[in-house]
Amino acid sequence: MSAQALLEQYGPRESMDYDVVIVGAGPAGLATAIRLKQLAAAADREVSVVVLEKGSEPG
Ligand SMILES: Cc1cc2nc3c(=O)[nH]c(=O)nc-3n(C[C@H](O)[C@H](O)[C@H](O)COP(=O)(O)OP(=O)(O)OC[C@H]3O[C@@H](n4cnc5c(N)ncnc54)[C@H](O)[C@@H]3O)c2cc1C
Repeated sequence: MSAQALLEQYGPRESMDYDVVIVGAGPAGLATAIRLKQLAAAADREVSVVVLEKGSEPG
């Protein structure tokens, strides 16, 4: 099925914007997400962070 046909049948894909996208919810990814939010909070800044995990559960 072509991209055009998919678009006509299902409509445009939903999308969401984030400041930081972390791929992988292992210890490194989770620690990065937590530390970024800690640093943002300490600086009184708002940072949106998302962690993408291909597995069925994080960690
Ligand atoms: C058999 C085994 C036993 C171990 N036992 C111990 C132990 O007892 N104690 C200890 O301290 N350490 C142990 N380790 C080591 C520990 O697991 C690693 O050091 C640690 O998991 C590394 O963390 P990481 O976040 O770098 O990578 P990972 O834990 O590998 O996390 C990476 C994550 O990214 C995800 N991912 C990858 N590609 C994509 C993609 N394209 N899209 C979305 N998600 C993606 C993966 O599914 C995974 O969840 C063990 C390792 C193994 C293999």
